[in-house]
Amino acid sequence: MRTIDPTSGRKIKNYPEFSLAKIEGILEKTQKSFMSWRKQSVNARAVFMKRAAKILRSNKEQYARLMALEMGKPFDQGINEIEKCALVCDFYVEHAAKYLSDKYIKTQASKSFIAYEPLGIVLAVMPWNFPFWQVFRCAIPTLMAGNAVVLKHASNVGGCALAIEKVFKEAGLPPFLFSNIYLSGSRVKNVIQHPFIQAVSLTGSTAAGKSIAATAGAEIKKVVLELGGSDPYIVLEDADINQAVITCVNARMINGGQSCVAAKRFIIVASRFKEFEEKFVSRMQLQQMGPPLHEGITLGPMARHDLRDQLHAQVQQSVKQGAKILLGGIIPPGPGAFYPATVLSHVHPGMVAFRQELFGPVAALIKAKDEVEAVKMANDTVFGLGAALFTKNLAKAQHLAKEIQAGSLFINEAVRSDPYLPFGGIKQSGYGRELSEAGIREFVNIKTIVIK
Ligand code: NAP
Repeated sequence: MRTIDPTSGRKIKNYPEFSLAKIEGILEKTQKSFMSWRKQSVNARAVFMKRAAKILRSNKEQYARLMALEMGKPFDQGINEIEKCALVCDFYVEHAAKYLSDKYIKTQASKSFIAYEPLGIVLAVMPWNFPFWQVFRCAIPTLMAGNAVVLKHASNVGGCALAIEKVFKEAGLPPFLFSNIYLSGSRVKNVIQHPFIQAVSLTGSTAAGKSIAATAGAEIKKVVLELGGSDPYIVLEDADINQAVITCVNARMINGGQSCVAAKRFIIVASRFKEFEEKFVSRMQLQQMGPPLHEGITLGPMARHDLRDQLHAQVQQSVKQGAKILLGGIIPPGPGAFYPATVLSHVHPGMVAFRQELFGPVAALIKAKDEVEAVKMANDTVFGLGAALFTKNLAKAQHLAKEIQAGSLFINEAVRSDPYLPFGGIKQSGYGRELSEAGIREFVNIKTIVIK
């Protein structure tokens, strides 16, 4: 496994894959560590997460530079990501004890209550797009609930994986309670099958989700799947178009468009389509593409050359099917996995840009006859992660919110994750939830205890 700087195309470092014997040794030590960790109080566990937050905050520039190097994230966005990781630590330090305390239920017995007990070792299979955030949002509640975590990070962010392991080490977490293993996606199956692994959390593509769910299903092991999306952003007739355009462009371009909950399909009612289209293109033109460590850059290279080429092929296929390029759509000369801010118009159901996830800086503009057709088009997808709705009529918006098939729906705002709120999808965007009370309850045994 090796890391490559997507800005220059140059190799950074090799990370030899771990043998199964080496992983077996790690799992044995992790299991031992878990057996004592599970007995610690939630407050005792919180001490380590507080320290982890402090380490994250004091090294944020270093981590942001590492993400820029390994996957092309602009520096300022990297700083924000690390601050969010520290916040998720703070959140569970404050709330985990409340979420995990015994719950007493009145029944015919003299006493009945629910206890939340850890499961054991959770395998975290993570993606490269938010190399720190995805890991912390999974690991912090999982550890706070008394489990251990083995991280299999994406192959192109080996340095980030090591840096995260070091955060927990420096925070004084008992050895092997959080361990990084270098392993390619194709060998994850063997680890899931190991008897010490009790559950799996995957954030990644739908294809990886199908494969992991099949293996874990055969082993009867719990899985949480945070997969891809094609989030619809619906703009209704009475929307504030200027505000909607600002929010929609930001929502498309965050992390160079490489976010599961980035806005991907913009569905605008016919009466406001032209105005939205013109303003949207003008605002997309303001993106500054360049090396992620340069000041003022809002769009770095994509994370890998193959992903850039795959995105370009999706654009070309959509054009063949009738879509029109209003901006971008051309691979710039020179090194690096750069792809410009791109706008496709005349996108219809059935086209690649409508059906597939566009994981990069490409917006698909879709015209709907009216709001009924807009909602129908929003739901006409195999995905169901996030969605947004733009209108001044909040009563109508709240009604329509329940008609849209998605794990979250934001009104006049971009979809985002927040430690206070559950995060996850339906349909082929996955199942299970992360963050909030729902997230910390995923990897626990919800045990019923009854006294006659
Ligand atoms: P990916 O190719 O599925 O990789 C994600 C992780 O899964 C990596 O660690 C990868 O390892 C591993 N993997 C790949 N194929 C596997 C398999 N067959 N069995 C077991 N593990 C496998 O996804 P990506 O390209 O890194 O990330 C982009 C995708 O993730 C997009 O679809 C995006 O929407 C989704 N995503 C979802 C969320 C969410 O919260 N819902 C958040 C972020 C991203 P290798 O790197 O070694 O292949």
